[in-house]
Amino acid sequence: MNNQKIFSIAVMPGDGIGTEIMSPCLEVMAAAMQRVGGIEMDFTTIEAGAGCYTKHGDAFPEESRKTATSADAILLGAMGLPSVRYPNGTEIAPQLDLRFDLGLYAGVRPFRAVPGIPMVLADPRAKDIDFVLIRESTEGLFASHGKGTVENDETARETLVITRNVSERLFDFSFDLARQRKAKGGEGRVSCIDKANVFMAFAFFRKIFDERAALNPDIAADHAYIDATALNMVRNPLGFDVMVTENMFGDILSDLGAALIGGMGMAPSADIGDDHAVFQPCHGSAPDIMGQGKANPTAMFMSGAMMLDWLGNSHGVGECNKAAALLNAAIDHAFGAGRLMPFELGGQSGTSPITDAVLAAVDQIDLASL
Ligand code: ATP
Repeated sequence: MNNQKIFSIAVMPGDGIGTEIMSPCLEVMAAAMQRVGGIEMDFTTIEAGAGCYTKHGDAFPEESRKTATSADAILLGAMGLPSVRYPNGTEIAPQLDLRFDLGLYAGVRPFRAVPGIPMVLADPRAKDIDFVLIRESTEGLFASHGKGTVENDETARETLVITRNVSERLFDFSFDLARQRKAKGGEGRVSCIDKANVFMAFAFFRKIFDERAALNPDIAADHAYIDATALNMVRNPLGFDVMVTENMFGDILSDLGAALIGGMGMAPSADIGDDHAVFQPCHGSAPDIMGQGKANPTAMFMSGAMMLDWLGNSHGVGECNKAAALLNAAIDHAFGAGRLMPFELGGQSGTSPITDAVLAAVDQIDLASL
């Protein structure tokens, strides 16, 4: 009898360039999985986002929600368009709903320099940038999403929330990730990024971090203020291993991290909870370049690789980890050859040539080297 697990994956291409980078991503993932063998996935594409809202008057229909919730993992392109808004003026963002509904508290954003991609920093060590930012994704200032008030056109309020329950799990997740990186030669250090010198909520955040650090003595732990961290991410990006921070701070530092390694098209992400996970590039739907074939699909490919790795770890299927490693190696190989330069970095390589080069590389990598 064949007991092989068939993974069910909910695919949400979304809007704008999300729809343009999703098919290439499924193509390169299929190639990597086929090369490794022993992995079965069942992909179901579901509707959600601004286009869906325009068409059906609902940005995230119940049917789509059900499919997403029951899947083993969710692969998402990008959602929202500035031209499509709810009556209260806010943008369509079902990806935020998913984070709250499924309790995806750990927003994992790895920043790794890819060979062949020019770095904005002149220091030659920029090619060694490799750190992970963990953005808490269900509370912080975003707990106020949809609940803010404006009184008499005079005073606006949004409330930041930090809870012990989520923070403990967030920090434990961060120490675990640092441990996994340490096993592969990483430094094994978690830095708590906060503003504990000014706000009680962040002093509380830091206190819980210190409590969890004491329970993880094999991993080093330190703290830094958000403002100093913005400075140091540019001045000394090699000085970080795993950073963990509040939702809004993480939102901003994510874009800074993406700039350090070549732009939004090179920055993948995962939103992970205890039972569910969503994998998507850090970037949005980029309406300024949609429909022109200019989107860099690399962040989407890397997000697919993160999904494979997570499925492999959570279900003990080593083939998935191997396919993830193959996909990342193929990306490095494709860009390392020096013939690809994405549009966002001033080059002429759009979605197709990048996809073709990564597909070709998937066949060329020596599996034994992974
Ligand atoms: P959001 O506001 O939801 O973050 P957005 O698309 O307006 O979405 P970003 O995702 O931050 O904003 O992207 C900023 C700009 O970076 C885009 O307008 C686009 O020009 C560029 N960009 C983003 N992603 C890519 C990509 N994959 N390939 C090429 N350019 C991109």
